[in-house]
Amino acid sequence: MTSPEQRHPIHRIDLPRIVLVGESVLDKLIPVCQELGFKTALIVTGKTTYNVAGEKAQKHLEEGGLDTECIFVEDATLDTVGKVVEKAEEIDAHAILGVGGGRNIDVAKLSAFKTSRSFISVPTVASHDGIASSLASVKGMGRPYTVRASSPIAVIMDSKIIAESPYRFTAAGCGDIISKATEVRDWRLAHDENGDYYGGYAGSLSLMGSEHVMREAPLIKERTQEGIRTVLEALVSCGVAMSIAGSSKPTSGSAHLFSHAIDKIAEKPALHGEQCGVGVIMMAKLHNLKWRAIRKSLQIIGAPTTAEGLGLDPDTVVEALTIAQSIRPERYTILSKAKLDKRKARKLAESTGVI
Ligand SMILES: [Zn+2]
Repeated sequence: MTSPEQRHPIHRIDLPRIVLVGESVLDKLIPVCQELGFKTALIVTGKTTYNVAGEKAQKHLEEGGLDTECIFVEDATLDTVGKVVEKAEEIDAHAILGVGGGRNIDVAKLSAFKTSRSFISVPTVASHDGIASSLASVKGMGRPYTVRASSPIAVIMDSKIIAESPYRFTAAGCGDIISKATEVRDWRLAHDENGDYYGGYAGSLSLMGSEHVMREAPLIKERTQEGIRTVLEALVSCGVAMSIAGSSKPTSGSAHLFSHAIDKIAEKPALHGEQCGVGVIMMAKLHNLKWRAIRKSLQIIGAPTTAEGLGLDPDTVVEALTIAQSIRPERYTILSKAKLDKRKARKLAESTGVI
């Protein structure tokens, strides 16, 4: 006899409990920590991000009576995670805060997961959708893509700090969000042709972020608070989509595989979101979507749309297209069908103006 659980598997969704978006919300760190009952905190940050937000965060927490320590990280590797885990245990941190860009956030997130402590995400840039997700990308785990970690209990997105960060990061974040236009279609395709589970709600949520950012491209380019908020809310929406699906599938398909392939073969890869943005133009053509409209919105935002814009030579783009699916063979995408050889890959990149 099958148990009720076997017939209807329990689907667990972990979502952030508090999400703060707005100007100077970093000041709200104390009430958030008090509300959550934290008495000790470990701040994971980098040298630059310490000046931008880490120092201020530490000052706030200490003023609020929390025992706080800072640990500086320079890379997102398993070794570094090990050091953070050690420190968190040594000071018995109730919460681990990731303050900064992707690297600090990923390290803090995975360390919180490994020590069963609460994770608070405090991004200083809006460069990718990991800021509110439960997945982390850390080197040394034998794969270039994300692994399961903790969902943040709180996300503190200070739009003033993010608006003052180099615009390149925000434009890259838009590339990551816009790429969901094909990633969600890849997921649906995997459902239709490969029998994968597909969650319509998570798919719609991810797609909505992409459509919203494309529509608001001119506002984003003007760097208005409204534009920045659109990007931040879309990044949260993508993170929530991943949490609901319990996987990166609603946010990571063929355009992401293309980006992972570039990370693997290029001497100097561009930013993750920039590569996903160029990837989505080509993958949209394979999906028979309106790839020109996608390219146009990226152009308005000021994100790269060509190999040159990524600082890559055409051959690297062609090679990345041919090996992309092999990076993660089990994730069925349009590339599983297209089976691009060098000739087809070059034609695709040329016809979309990428090379
Ligand atoms: Zn991404």
